[in-house]
Amino acid sequence: ESRNFNQNQKFNGNTTKNDVRDDYFVRKQRIAQQRSSLPIAPVEKRILEEVRKNDTLIIVGETGSGKTTQLPQFLFNGGFGRDGKVIGITQPRRVAAVTVAKRVAEECGVELGQKVGYSIRFEDVTSSSTRIKYMTDGLLLREALLDPSLSRYSVIIVDEAHERTVHTDVLLGLLKNVQNARSRCTNQQIGLEKDNNGVLLDKENNSQCLGLLKSCQGKKLPPLKLIIMSASLDARVFSEYFGGARAVHIQGRQYPVDMLFTHHAEPDYLDATLITIFQIHLEEGPGDILVFLTGQEEIESVERLVQERAQQIPEGSQKILTVPIFSSLPSEQQMQVFRPAPSGFRKVILATNIAETSVTIPGIKYVIDPGLVKARTYNPLTGMESLIIVPTSKAQALQRSGRAGREGPGKCFRLYPESEFGKLLDSTVPEIKRCNLSNVILQLKALGVDDITGFDFMEKPSRMAIVKSLEQLFLLGALTDDYKLSKPVGQQMARLPLDPIYSKSLILASEFNCLEEMLITVAMLSVESIFYAPREKLEEARAARKCFSSPEGDHLTLINVYRASVECLEKSKRANSKDRTTERSLSKWCKENFINNRSLRHARDIHSQIRRHIEQMGLLVASCGDDTLQFRRCLAASFFLNAALKQPDGTYRAFASSQVVQIHPSSVLFRTKSDCIIFNELVRTNHNYIRNITRIDPLWLLELAPQYYATQN
Ligand code: ADP
Ligand code: MG
Repeated sequence: ESRNFNQNQKFNGNTTKNDVRDDYFVRKQRIAQQRSSLPIAPVEKRILEEVRKNDTLIIVGETGSGKTTQLPQFLFNGGFGRDGKVIGITQPRRVAAVTVAKRVAEECGVELGQKVGYSIRFEDVTSSSTRIKYMTDGLLLREALLDPSLSRYSVIIVDEAHERTVHTDVLLGLLKNVQNARSRCTNQQIGLEKDNNGVLLDKENNSQCLGLLKSCQGKKLPPLKLIIMSASLDARVFSEYFGGARAVHIQGRQYPVDMLFTHHAEPDYLDATLITIFQIHLEEGPGDILVFLTGQEEIESVERLVQERAQQIPEGSQKILTVPIFSSLPSEQQMQVFRPAPSGFRKVILATNIAETSVTIPGIKYVIDPGLVKARTYNPLTGMESLIIVPTSKAQALQRSGRAGREGPGKCFRLYPESEFGKLLDSTVPEIKRCNLSNVILQLKALGVDDITGFDFMEKPSRMAIVKSLEQLFLLGALTDDYKLSKPVGQQMARLPLDPIYSKSLILASEFNCLEEMLITVAMLSVESIFYAPREKLEEARAARKCFSSPEGDHLTLINVYRASVECLEKSKRANSKDRTTERSLSKWCKENFINNRSLRHARDIHSQIRRHIEQMGLLVASCGDDTLQFRRCLAASFFLNAALKQPDGTYRAFASSQVVQIHPSSVLFRTKSDCIIFNELVRTNHNYIRNITRIDPLWLLELAPQYYATQN
């Protein structure tokens, strides 16, 4: 034993690390055992062969079969990471990219950011030695702006393709072009044709392909391997889109899952969720519970309610541990969901639809599915996009229940009557059919795709949606009269990883001398729910919020919150240099003021990242100080598309859409009704609610957005 001890000392330089080292070997062994028992493990050789034979391959396999974590490692072992080349894996969701990268780094026994890394908007954990790179699909689209032929990659795996996010769809079209261009460059059969002046000719009238060929020229690029991975059994759409590409199915494992439905429709699904959690906890055997909710706000309120009610569980019986998982969860909290609950606890995971297929959490035996999901909708007539809560599709419901049968027989509690199931859509409508396209169009234009309607979309968005989005971009000054990307504004807007309307607001703010304020605003508007108000403390929460309220509106109120939090942080830093203590005092401050600490921290991260972009672009970050008029004028100039005017009956009418809208009760302007306002968000429940509102002078619209208001009747 003493020898062991000495060796440890050498390895760790610390005698107390003895256990740690044992743990390390136990863990390593356990990981190896887990890996070899995954359904994908026996087909490693076959998959590698298929990848070598086919430039495009579709892999279909049930969630949890090991596609996301194992395939990149297979490819690495098969030599696809040689010569400095990178294996890229795209995910629709940030959390999936981060947690899977962490897991794979652990499986490989390497430090995150070295051989295995991830890159998501506002966070890059990669280095020049990264060979397996997880990222969001949106991020790869941005990378293509700087490196159109994606020359660093030998393979790109588009994961979770069945989700059909708008970024996935656009990426597939783009990758098809890149693959085509790269194979033409490598083959050199179809050399590039030049005119008499030596200028490259656009023979196929495909400006993007031409740009790509130019960027490939002179580089020795291997062909780009594409792998499309999907959890849905229907590989046909992808195969057809890629000219009859080969599909491989991985035989999954699934234990039976008991399906339970309610007798009647539930009037309050959150209440029903709560009751079901405790019913399972008190009446069913061991096993963790996975609950599908629609978003951060809902998850956090259910979390509080469960914790509160759990205090009434009698001493001595099993306790409950709640773990949330949603997209904007701070990254050090994301991995908690994978840790087994300590003994004496049952884990209750409160998740968005991220846990449907993107991340597989071990240990789940019970699934609670209220049958709802938050989805984007877009009205091309009004040009307004909003988030609404809608029933899931059948495919989603099946995926959710499947989570209960991964490691043994399980149970799924659907909180709706069985008759409702038959009424669900078979599968979800691809997002590209129900979102504002201005972001996508801006990206495509920046990539050299000028003819948007001619782009080879997997599923074409409606003409109306394209036209409306082009019009919006034009009004924002991103496009010229002939719908080309404008210089420099359009180019600058495309460089910022933000919604075009926010990018424009930052560019304008530098002219209005209020970029400091606008940066905070955009960061705060990029996160969900800064304020929270628990049911039992509504009055206290309201009083706390009053301290930050600005009579001008919600934007300045958010700025007040942000600045107060920074002040609190700095005060604590001055008094005590330890990071931990500083974080703790901020967390206390948040609690006292009913501010959501997670969201605030996320906003701070976003703020510093956008600030970096902004400074690189050379924009002047100045503050308007007490001259808030200047800031409000800038808001009017930026968000003129979202202006609303008060009606005699007290409601508002949005200029652009003529829709009747109401101020959301959470707005500081809920009671003090001004004549003219701008807003940032439309929330559709039983009313058309608008949120994040500031009062403006209607004359400013005419003055600052004549391109829109001077031509209206
Ligand atoms: P698929 O992509 O086919 O859905 P994955 O590769 O994501 O499957 O998951 C394979 C296995 O790895 C699953 O059993 C899952 O529980 C496990 N796993 C994935 N991520 C983690 C993690 N961060 N911690 C522990 N286990 C994980
Ligand atoms: Mg996966």
